[in-house]
Amino acid sequence: MTELLPNYVAGQWLSGKGTGTALHDPVLGTELVRVNAEGLDLAAAFAFARHNGGAALRALTYAQRAAMLGAVGKVLQANRDAYYEISTANCGTVKNDTAVDVDGGIYTLGTYAKLGEALGDVHFMHDGDATRLGKDPLFQTQHVYTPTRGVALFINAFNFPSWGLWEKAAPALLSGVPVIIKPATATAWLTQRMVKDVVDAGILPVGALSIICGSADGLMDQLEPFDVVSFTGSAQTAALIRSHPAVTHKSVRVNIEADSLNSALLLPTETRDSEAVALLVKEVAREMTVKSGQKCTAIRRVLIPESLYDAVAQALSARLAKTTVGNPRNESVRMGALVNRVQFNSVSDGLAYLQPQTERLHDGQSHALVDADPLIACCVGPTLLGTRDAAGSDAADRVHDEEVFGPVATLVPYRNGDIDHALALIRRGQGSLVTSLYGSDASALARVIPELSDSHGRLHVVSPDVAALHTGHGNVMPQSLHGGPGRAGGGEELGGLRALNFYHRRSAIQASTAVLANLN
Ligand code: NAP
Repeated sequence: MTELLPNYVAGQWLSGKGTGTALHDPVLGTELVRVNAEGLDLAAAFAFARHNGGAALRALTYAQRAAMLGAVGKVLQANRDAYYEISTANCGTVKNDTAVDVDGGIYTLGTYAKLGEALGDVHFMHDGDATRLGKDPLFQTQHVYTPTRGVALFINAFNFPSWGLWEKAAPALLSGVPVIIKPATATAWLTQRMVKDVVDAGILPVGALSIICGSADGLMDQLEPFDVVSFTGSAQTAALIRSHPAVTHKSVRVNIEADSLNSALLLPTETRDSEAVALLVKEVAREMTVKSGQKCTAIRRVLIPESLYDAVAQALSARLAKTTVGNPRNESVRMGALVNRVQFNSVSDGLAYLQPQTERLHDGQSHALVDADPLIACCVGPTLLGTRDAAGSDAADRVHDEEVFGPVATLVPYRNGDIDHALALIRRGQGSLVTSLYGSDASALARVIPELSDSHGRLHVVSPDVAALHTGHGNVMPQSLHGGPGRAGGGEELGGLRALNFYHRRSAIQASTAVLANLN
């Protein structure tokens, strides 16, 4: 039997009782390691993190905790090669895709280390200036942010075992809040190894970072009023988290990042040969293939004027046809595997569900796998669907509702010259993480922004002047907000120091100016 990865709780490495669940190589089908959390004393684990980890973190200042984040980043950087190997084996990713996860996590830690350093040697933060409460300025109110005295429980999705941990842990630890991470079982190995390296390096106070690998059973039951839970995953599991008594009865603060039907929009004024069309085609192809489309931010719906349907379909298909799919260990391969058979079947089911309302413009099955056995490897080629004309886009409800979590996107034409039609179609996604706009007219692009910003966490605007500068539709930058309203879960993460709000409580302090002057 393969190695059983231990959990790290209450300052100890502990294996679960029993044989656990096997993690597999999605390309070769081999068993890699096992995880198991059965029999752990969860109450003791949460109490230790809350009391020991929390007290030790809160004794430090923001600048001191920021320095720790910087040191954590250095440890991860030093062990980067091992992470790449684990990711290739367990996630089936090519190097460029591993970079999005591993290097993206390290970059995010580094960003919060810098942001935190600037907060200085203080233990809580002011929120705005003091405001007088009456005619006499002597008695005023000052709002402050104080770190919550609880734990941050992270229940994460399978697609970002590295970045998914560090994009949440960086602001939590900087805030002085201990973290318990429960990675998705399918890809827990990379998260466990990173936590092990950081714990072994002795940078963080004991109890500041714990990891529980395996089933989520009982985790939510441990939460108390000052704890927070951050969930990333499917809408179905999100509904269970939201309705748990810890949330409904104890006001445990919850952040949800769920699924999302992200879109890309080409403005109606663009013509077939315009640079904006080329930029859209390039970005959509990239979004479909990076991490085999297993990105919560990936473009799923591509809105274009119906007169450009055939031209965009041809340009995109030609680009996608060049994608070599298969074993990520082969240097010629550009797109590796989905993470497991469950996801492979889920993508097949999703395509079958969309099939009656779409046509297949580029078929993933036309890609012969390189160095991989199609009977074993969970690899799928990129598939471009389309609804053909504007009437078809109106009739096709499924493309606005079904997130196929793989290398799949749909061309959704709107009536020529009718931006309102395009906006109405985008809004049928019922709230998304991100949409990207493509056009060369700055004022036309700006006019669209307030039409979509209420229903999206992020708008990524690509005009020819930023062709070589923009950071990519799907790349989540720590400086910008990540999360989206409605269907996307209603969560907010990152956005620079805004991320710290989730881990702090805001209070109004009403006192004399003399007392407030001493508040630092
Ligand atoms: P999932 O099945 O909902 O699982 C997510 C996490 O929840 C896993 O750690 C899972 O553990 C755990 N879990 C399962 N049942 C639970 C329960 N009853 N109580 C508490 N936790 C439970 O989602 P997934 O398939 O891993 O992730 C894919 C989805 O995540 C996609 O829809 C994608 O759009 C979304 N996603 C969103 C974002 C974002 O930032 N918005 C980012 C990435 C992914 P086990 O693995 O042990 O079952």
